[in-house]
Amino acid sequence: TNGIVIIGAGQAASQAVMSLRSEGYEGPIRMIGDEAEPPYQRPPLSKKFLAGEIGFDRVELKPVEFYANAGCELLLSTRVAAIERAKKVVLTSDGREIAYDKLIIATGSRVREINVPGFDLEGVYYLRSVADVHEIQKNFKPGAKMVVVGGGYIGLEVAAVAKKHDISVTVLETAERVMARVVDPIVSHFYERIHREEGVIIRTGVTVAGFEGEGGRITHVVSGEGESFPCTFVVVGIGIIPNTELAQDAGVTVENGIVVDEMTRTSDPDIYAAGDCTNHPNGVYGRRLRLESVHNAIEQGKTAAAAITGKDKPYNQVPWFWSDQYDLKLQIAGLSTGYTEAVTRGNPAEGRSFAVFYLKDGVLIAVDAVNRAPEFMMARQLIAKQAKLDPKRLADESISMKEVAN
Ligand code: FAD
Repeated sequence: TNGIVIIGAGQAASQAVMSLRSEGYEGPIRMIGDEAEPPYQRPPLSKKFLAGEIGFDRVELKPVEFYANAGCELLLSTRVAAIERAKKVVLTSDGREIAYDKLIIATGSRVREINVPGFDLEGVYYLRSVADVHEIQKNFKPGAKMVVVGGGYIGLEVAAVAKKHDISVTVLETAERVMARVVDPIVSHFYERIHREEGVIIRTGVTVAGFEGEGGRITHVVSGEGESFPCTFVVVGIGIIPNTELAQDAGVTVENGIVVDEMTRTSDPDIYAAGDCTNHPNGVYGRRLRLESVHNAIEQGKTAAAAITGKDKPYNQVPWFWSDQYDLKLQIAGLSTGYTEAVTRGNPAEGRSFAVFYLKDGVLIAVDAVNRAPEFMMARQLIAKQAKLDPKRLADESISMKEVAN
């Protein structure tokens, strides 16, 4: 038997190995990843690891010995160049041919690059990997001036960390508000206020037109309106692109992600896919999703392992996500798209703790909770149940979440 080959050595891949063994799979497993490190968590890369508060030992998902003990061969710093479905082999870029009985594609996503003049100047960074963090950290020095391009989670988290290091920070966002793609204006405006109070310059409605430099190194970011922002380095966080090319080139169905069913099966019966690279059905919302989250990667890793070992554990859950900025823990459950009413509990205009609930025709579909763990936990359950809630009671803090739910 050729066993199982996993392409990618990230969150979903690592989970798949653990779950394959706990589901009782005894055959060989090979994991092929193009990074130098064994699988690790990415969230700390824009939080505590970037801040230098924790080391790689707290970021890796399992110590490297785990894989050997689990009978999983790790091929690191190795890129898969192609999948040959007819022969059931993958080809690595260093010329090896590795056969599989079942294949799991867990290739994740890569950063979207900015295509403006000066894009290749020194001092322009992206943030996806441990290697990227090391490069960015070299710029954390006294007198440093950082411009962040993109006011999404990653850009704002990096801004918060840099501020702690006494770096001057300007965030440039094209949309009219930060995190516009993922949260309601109430939440965006709250974060804009907090960042400004912390000393970050937040500029919305600004489109970056180019980077200017001296001696090959960036000195200014220039906007479409001709404004110039001096800097010693730039971090670009403008979204990701799922890594679907391998699947696509092999003729596996791809449509805004590798198309899988609720069991993570692709259009090829011997190939499964998990994590950021997939487009999957979600029963709670009755539509297909492509998600970029740890929860999604873990759950699909589990489901793929179960499916390969002949068990059906459909992945059908309320998505959730978090972001840490300063002392604020933002927790998001569900997807608010299409909501008809947003109900606020607590006061986002003052203080640092509140929750926004999104209702669609009275049914709770999502929550954004800032330093409100109880609201988040309760909402996760209520969204799964498609609970109908009374907006007045939800907004009334004298009524506990437990009572609101009943
Ligand atoms: P990944 O973990 O990205 O793993 C995929 C791996 O496959 C990568 O190592 C990649 O290099 C490798 N690969 C790709 N193609 C090939 C190939 N051809 N050959 C070999 N290897 C290949 N999510 C949250 O839920 N909460 C957060 O707070 C949060 N913060 C984040 C902060 C940052 C800075 C980043 C970058 C992401 C964050 N995320 C967060 C998102 C989360 O980390 C991802 O959704 C998750 O890692 C996806 O897991 P994955 O296994 O699909 O992909």
